[in-house]
Amino acid sequence: MSILVLGGAGYIGSHTVDRLLAENRDVVVVDNLVTGHRAAVNSDVKFYEGDLADKDFMRKVFTENPDIDAVIHFAAFSLVAESMVDPLKYFDNNTAGMVKLLEVMNEFDVKRIVFSSTAATYGIPEKMPIYEDDPQNPINPYGESKLMMEKIMRWADDAYGIKFVALRYFNVAGAKPDGSIGEDHGPETHLLPIVLQVAMGKRDELSIFGDDYNTPDGTNVRDYVHPFDLADAHILAVDYLREGNDSDVFNLGSSTGFSNLEMLEAAREVTGKEIPAKIAPRRVGDPDTLIAASEKARKVLGWKPQFDDVKKIIETAWKWHTTHPNGYDDRD
Ligand code: UDP
Repeated sequence: MSILVLGGAGYIGSHTVDRLLAENRDVVVVDNLVTGHRAAVNSDVKFYEGDLADKDFMRKVFTENPDIDAVIHFAAFSLVAESMVDPLKYFDNNTAGMVKLLEVMNEFDVKRIVFSSTAATYGIPEKMPIYEDDPQNPINPYGESKLMMEKIMRWADDAYGIKFVALRYFNVAGAKPDGSIGEDHGPETHLLPIVLQVAMGKRDELSIFGDDYNTPDGTNVRDYVHPFDLADAHILAVDYLREGNDSDVFNLGSSTGFSNLEMLEAAREVTGKEIPAKIAPRRVGDPDTLIAASEKARKVLGWKPQFDDVKKIIETAWKWHTTHPNGYDDRD
């Protein structure tokens, strides 16, 4: 039995492939390398460069690897701001891509999929923390594209018996503790990598987007989770489906919130650097606070996140950034 990882060269995908290999699981990776990095994946892994929306390409992958019995799907665009200006890019790549993927999975009788969903499917929550059955009213095309993907999987389960687990991530941050793989986006838009780039002198200062939110210090509060812990949740979800369980949805977060100012302060402590920062206007589409209720993943999947301290998360990211100031361009 082998696991097909779509988007395995991306940030979270590459950490999951790494964990799967550490557990001696059989893995096949597909990535179109539009945002992923070939160097993020162990060179011994069976790797196909191509697009999951290309059905003939995907037929070739399944034909050549008849032992694939489960798919983990990370291959999607994920920038909120970009999705606001180019929504069709998101509905095409993310949503339409899911339709094509499920068609080919069904053709090859592959009936298990673990899917990267997002807290962005909840929109502006009415209460905290957020539970899996809370209303989903996304406020940007990115969140909408992922909610549509969840719904498509529900109907595909009803009609074809393709079982799914949708994992709704909150804010992902950190790197492999040995610093060998990490976060490398171009352009970088996420808080922690930007904070650490300022700490390294690669940027002049951090802009904190808004300090007049309805939170204790006025800056947004987010729930940070480490990619290693996410990786474990994906592997547990594959096992859960292989055991014959029904489709389900789980939040993945630490259940603790940190404000943008608290993240900055923690990064100053971990790095020992000053990290100049200024308050800038709000960014469009940022809810005040996002904190996950993640008891369900702990209870049902047996998920035990190890990175329960945001400083530990920042330490791992700092190791990656200081050893790879230019991201994967610095790797052999
Ligand atoms: N943020 C910020 N300055 C930046 C980048 C992000 O103040 O240069 C804030 C952003 O407004 C949000 C939080 O950091 O409140 C997390 O944003 P990020 O883009 O990392 O993740 P998202 O929540 O959008 O997935």
